[in-house]
Amino acid sequence: MSAARRVALGVVASAMLLATAPWAQSQQAPVREITKIAGEVYRFRNNFHYSVFAVTPAGVIATDPINADAARWLEAEIARRFAQPVRYLMYSHDHADHISGGEVFADTAIVVAHDNAKAAIVGERRPTAVPQVTFSDRMTIELAGTVVELVYVGRNHSDNSIVMRFPRERLLFAVDFIPVNGLAFRDFPDTYMPDWIESLKRVEAMDFDVLVPGHGPLGTRANVTMFREYLQDLRGEVLRYAREGKSVDEMKQLIKLPKYDAWGPRDWFPLNIEGMYRLVQANRRGN
Ligand SMILES: [Zn+2]
Repeated sequence: MSAARRVALGVVASAMLLATAPWAQSQQAPVREITKIAGEVYRFRNNFHYSVFAVTPAGVIATDPINADAARWLEAEIARRFAQPVRYLMYSHDHADHISGGEVFADTAIVVAHDNAKAAIVGERRPTAVPQVTFSDRMTIELAGTVVELVYVGRNHSDNSIVMRFPRERLLFAVDFIPVNGLAFRDFPDTYMPDWIESLKRVEAMDFDVLVPGHGPLGTRANVTMFREYLQDLRGEVLRYAREGKSVDEMKQLIKLPKYDAWGPRDWFPLNIEGMYRLVQANRRGN
């Protein structure tokens, strides 16, 4: 989502929301680290955002740069630790909080994204490198024997989210549309429902063990199923109450979904209801 949208949401957010908001921490020194996940695949952290990269003998295959400062730090760390340039840079989707700063790698890397991501990056003037290579359904990147499969699984959180599968390590990198034991982001900005649910079924059919999200802890394929069930359960409840003529405020009182009580942040649950109501209302007509 755009910075402007975040600011707009921040204005109406409660004091508690502001205190826990990711941008509240941007005043402090960023928390950055690189951790090995498995084999040649590493996870890069910048505060609440994460991406992955694979180190091959012929260079590095990187993903979301996150922002220009983070990308410069990552570039220097990769050079220091692995003495390799970044040869490929793949964007998970077009949202600026994940893919800003791509220009840092553009002198050595080929920048890859979905066709629709390029349209949004150009159209919204994202502060990053415009992808040189785009694709519609799937694409395979190969570098020194390392393979990464890029797959478009349909519209969900954006119309251009791709998943990146590292078959050797049995990892899947998927950003923002499969939270691990967590709620959906706020009120479902830039969301396609029910396409999102279908895209999760496609991910559930893929061959991998470890789910690597763009935020929060690692998961497994079971997390994909659980999150798909959450969306279905929430959508079902909102649709049922909409058909009963309930208001969105009434729904916030009525909808409980105790199965997901442990998922946070809890102040996103009423926002999830609000967003789902907006999405459900777009595709129904009462009497
Ligand atoms: Zn996003």
